[in-house]
Amino acid sequence: MLNNTFNNQENSSIESINPVDSLEVLLHKLMNRVRQYAELSDILSVTVNEVRVFLETDRVKVYKFDTDGSGEVVAESVNECLPSLLGQHFPAEDIPVEAREMFQTVRQRTIVDVTAQTIGLSRFLYPDSDNNDIWFRHVDPCHIEYLISMGVNSSVVVPILYRQQLWGLLVSHHSVPRNVTERELQVLQLVADQLSIAVGQSTLLQQTRILAQQEATINRVAKLLHSMTEMQLQQALELAVSGLQASGGRVYIAPQKPNEEPQIYSCGSGCILSEDYCDWLTTQPTLPELNHIWVINDLLVSALPEYLANDFNKAEIRSLLIVRLEYHTSIVGYLSIFRSSIDTETLWARRRDPLDERHLRPVKSFEAWQELKKAQVNPWTAPEIDLANSLGSHFAMAIQQYQLYQKIHAANYNLHRDIEQRKLFESKISALNAELETRVLERTTELQQANTELKHEVKERQQAQASVERLSRYNELILNSAGEGIYGLDANAKLTFINSAGARMLGYQVEELITPNKHFLESVIKHTKPDGTAYKWSENPIRATLEYGKVQNICDDIYYRRDGTKFPVEYISTPIEEQGQIIGAVVIFKDITERQIIERMKDEFVSIVSHELRTPLTSICSALGLLSNNSLDSQPVKKHRMLEIAFENTNRLVRLINDILDIERINSGKVSMHFQICNAADLMTQAADEMRAMAEKAEITLCVAPLHAQLWADPDRIVQTLTNLISNAIKFSPAGSSVWLSAEIQMTPHILFKVKDEGRGIPEDKLETIFDRFQQVDASNSRNQGGTGLGLAICRSIVQQHGGAIWAESVLDQGSTFYFTLPLLRGA
Ligand code: ADP
Repeated sequence: MLNNTFNNQENSSIESINPVDSLEVLLHKLMNRVRQYAELSDILSVTVNEVRVFLETDRVKVYKFDTDGSGEVVAESVNECLPSLLGQHFPAEDIPVEAREMFQTVRQRTIVDVTAQTIGLSRFLYPDSDNNDIWFRHVDPCHIEYLISMGVNSSVVVPILYRQQLWGLLVSHHSVPRNVTERELQVLQLVADQLSIAVGQSTLLQQTRILAQQEATINRVAKLLHSMTEMQLQQALELAVSGLQASGGRVYIAPQKPNEEPQIYSCGSGCILSEDYCDWLTTQPTLPELNHIWVINDLLVSALPEYLANDFNKAEIRSLLIVRLEYHTSIVGYLSIFRSSIDTETLWARRRDPLDERHLRPVKSFEAWQELKKAQVNPWTAPEIDLANSLGSHFAMAIQQYQLYQKIHAANYNLHRDIEQRKLFESKISALNAELETRVLERTTELQQANTELKHEVKERQQAQASVERLSRYNELILNSAGEGIYGLDANAKLTFINSAGARMLGYQVEELITPNKHFLESVIKHTKPDGTAYKWSENPIRATLEYGKVQNICDDIYYRRDGTKFPVEYISTPIEEQGQIIGAVVIFKDITERQIIERMKDEFVSIVSHELRTPLTSICSALGLLSNNSLDSQPVKKHRMLEIAFENTNRLVRLINDILDIERINSGKVSMHFQICNAADLMTQAADEMRAMAEKAEITLCVAPLHAQLWADPDRIVQTLTNLISNAIKFSPAGSSVWLSAEIQMTPHILFKVKDEGRGIPEDKLETIFDRFQQVDASNSRNQGGTGLGLAICRSIVQQHGGAIWAESVLDQGSTFYFTLPLLRGA
């Protein structure tokens, strides 16, 4: 297209540039034309047009070298005499290395005349030569053949240098032989120099453009990345990929915490790669530690694990750029940019094939040949690597800042949520508090009211309790002070209470008896009928109380003590009723052992007394009977005897009755003792005096040894006791024997009286019983000795009333001694 454009301009150029203009004018005009264009291709096209106008040759072209020595016709102005070579590539060997070196080092210019087979060489920088010096020599036949095959008979070549390096050639071809003047060469040299400048400017412009483009890319990427609220990483990646003319990319963001998953963003061919790539990337030891960027131009020649090579192959990735994303010292992730292979298209001036025989021979034709190369590496250029590096920095910074932002945001969010929750909580609490306060207020009022009532109730209850306790104490006192045993039973005959007298009678402590689940009647008191046979429960009298509420008054039952001994009882069982229901029974029992003994004794006493009274009465009755019918009137002795008998028996009867009444009165406490200070010696003397007549009558010697001691006693009763003992001693002693009355002081302090005789003695087993009423060693005593069997009983009663003791010691047929003690007067 350019070619056409400039061909169209050809006419105007011809008008403006005249071959005969001065060199300066020519150059001025040329530069004016050139300055209108900024692009190198435009400048080159204008230049070749202007130069061809100036030279009036068939072709003027600019040939540009590649780095490998090959070259391409980048600008051409040609007429119909020669075929166009524009855009065609020529292999490196077409212009040998030596020639290229001469172009560069001494800026050698060549002028070939095919017809003359000469080549004119002019070395612009050759020492000791004029710049325009040309010398000619024979040209290389190959060169001639090369030019001929191109249809060229005359050529001029001037090197174009950029920064001391061979950049290209300004070439003029003419189909017919033509001389090249020194001026023309000078013009061409000047044009080549200007082109060098243009190349420099163009390169600078190009670089500036690339930089501007890169900056724009960086800015756009940065804008996307550095949005604080939303990091548009995906779009930024896509932009980076397109800015680097890549096929895809991937960003790997390393997890911030050990249990977190990494974040991966992919685009283009990067999406096809499996996660293995990132795993490989993070564990890649070959990544140079100090280099942030890793450039792989051709993955096919890189030593990759097979699974990765397959992955890359599948994703059609050929080149790889890895930027380690670092912020300060921490690695935040990796940015990977992928590039596919590309197909190249080169238009060669001829086929360059080492096997092509034409290549071995001198060039004969220039048949244009389009070479297509598939799957070529599209390597990373230095600016691209720089761009990737810069982008990487932005990614790293943005990720770091975003993560920081996220953290702050999360913290803010949590803080906000906490505050909200706290506010909610506080409002709930204050609502609850208000409710609670109301409730507390209500409750307090209720409680105060209840409290007042309660206090009142408590007071009443305390009073009631006190009454109950008082009553209970009274009851307990009554129960415990009662001589009778009292116990309570529940409906199942289990003991509910027992007073201490009851427990004591049974041989227990109260606490021992109050044990639950024990049938009290059957397992504790085990009471039986009077004959000892056990009650069946069905016939137990207390059962009738418990079941029918019958009050039972039993007076001849037997209870058993803990030790197995039994005792006779009488008891009353009364039901306990509550709301018409019998809930138990109270049993009051009494040990009637004593009473039974007394009753027995009373019975015995009555029978003895009646016997003792009846005997004298019978004698009196029969004596008086005989006297009353006057049958003994004729027998005065017998009649007198009868009267004596009646008199004696009457006396005996009087004595008996006196004794009986005496003992009863003393025992029952009806006879009060008249205590006074008295002298023991006086009492002993008085008693002895009273008994002296009886002793003399019985021919017994009564010996008295009075002892002076002060006593607090009833003197009459003590004299009665002493006379009774002396009388017994006289009664049961033979005539001629002696009776001694003596006394002695004891330490206790007591006085001990002794009445000793030499009589018949008392059997040992009777020594105690003789002190009981109506007890005599021999029943005939009462008849023979006129005794009643009551004397010693009266003595014991009197002594005991004085706080003393009385006992007897005796040896059969040798005599007896009766002792009694009396307390001495204190301080006497
Ligand atoms: P009594 O009127 O029969 O003497 P006592 O009570 O005085 O009644 O004596 C009871 C019995 O004790 C007497 O009947 C007698 O058998 C016996 N007794 C009392 N004193 C003596 C004694 N000094 N020597 C032998 N027997 C005595």
